[in-house]
Amino acid sequence: MTPRRKTRQVDIGGVLIGGDAPVAVQSMTSTYTFEIDKTVAQIRSLAEAGCDIVRVAVPSKQDTEALPSILEQSPVPIIADVHFHYERALEAVEHGIHKIRLNPGNISDRKQVDRVIAACRGRGIPIRVGVNEGSVVERRDKDIRAAQQTAIAENPRAQLVALMIRTLEDYMRIFDENDFHDVVLSLKSIDARIVIDAYRAASERFDLPMHLGLTHAGPPETGRIRSIASLGTLLAEGIGDTIRISYAADPVFEVDDAKELLCSLGLRPRVEPELIACPTCGRIEIDLIKLVAEVRQKLATIKTPVKVAVMGCVVNGPGEAEGADVAIFAGKGRGIIYVQGQQTRTVSEAEMLDALYEECLAFADRVEKGEVKLSSDAVKIVPPDPLPRADGSTPLSVIK
Ligand code: SF4
Repeated sequence: MTPRRKTRQVDIGGVLIGGDAPVAVQSMTSTYTFEIDKTVAQIRSLAEAGCDIVRVAVPSKQDTEALPSILEQSPVPIIADVHFHYERALEAVEHGIHKIRLNPGNISDRKQVDRVIAACRGRGIPIRVGVNEGSVVERRDKDIRAAQQTAIAENPRAQLVALMIRTLEDYMRIFDENDFHDVVLSLKSIDARIVIDAYRAASERFDLPMHLGLTHAGPPETGRIRSIASLGTLLAEGIGDTIRISYAADPVFEVDDAKELLCSLGLRPRVEPELIACPTCGRIEIDLIKLVAEVRQKLATIKTPVKVAVMGCVVNGPGEAEGADVAIFAGKGRGIIYVQGQQTRTVSEAEMLDALYEECLAFADRVEKGEVKLSSDAVKIVPPDPLPRADGSTPLSVIK
């Protein structure tokens, strides 16, 4: 992991982005913003799932008029997503929004952009300047467009990245001329390789915080890999100060995956149990996949980041479960449960789920009372040795 890149810091309604602040998770509501109750309910679900900041679309005046009520009820800061109509940005600022998302390319008159910047400056509101791959090719001048398209046809990714950077530089000149630096940048594409190259290039040119995202990823089943491949690469390189994973699905999926990505890279502490499970192989003697799914459901009720391992055998399982707080190693009809390296129980297959859950609950309770500490990687699970000892005996008496 490369250390986080140093950037300026902006304050979005109390959530800091950039500098030494942790990488924040964002998502966006899929409701009509003017439907206040539905929008607030979705914002609450997202916040409950671990979302730090939520964006709402404000295409009409009806939407910006809903903002005061939404802001009053929201447990997290809110961003107004503005396209084309600069008046929506001014109204959102007037209503106390915490941040504006703006694509200056969608606002034809430079003076209108200047007015939005002035309004945001007056209230200390940051602006995200977003460039999307789909909107960087020249639309008005046919000759310029033809030249750009020829260049893109010859070398699509490099040319698109170059165009995105040039567009961003053009936008940033407007902000520099206004001496406005409370800015977060984004450069989104549907292509993971363009996302990686564009953010790498932008991070060399600007010391502003980066909002990472891959756009139009599709449903989680297909969009997850593209999103994690691109955002994970950048985060591992120290690039990225806030992330949004975007799916064509309930936005709570976005938050779940964003949190898991950040936790996996050590960029966010876990607050819920972590489940490790073996992939199963020809040594398996129980229905481990079913057990893992059931354990996962049960663990959702525990709010302590206990590390739990569910392993299909005692051959490789113990080594791979090292560091787990609570682990079960299953064998034919039976399982051995370990709590922080100590063997505590041997249970039948029918008892595995409840017994493991009980041990997890009890362990979490002891953690909460300060009686024990969460694992860290120091916990050693000494496996029942499956190999015969020198005297010929096999110490695997629990699994027959
Ligand atoms: S833990 Fe055992 S059953 Fe699971 S994949 Fe490894 S060797 Fe196979």
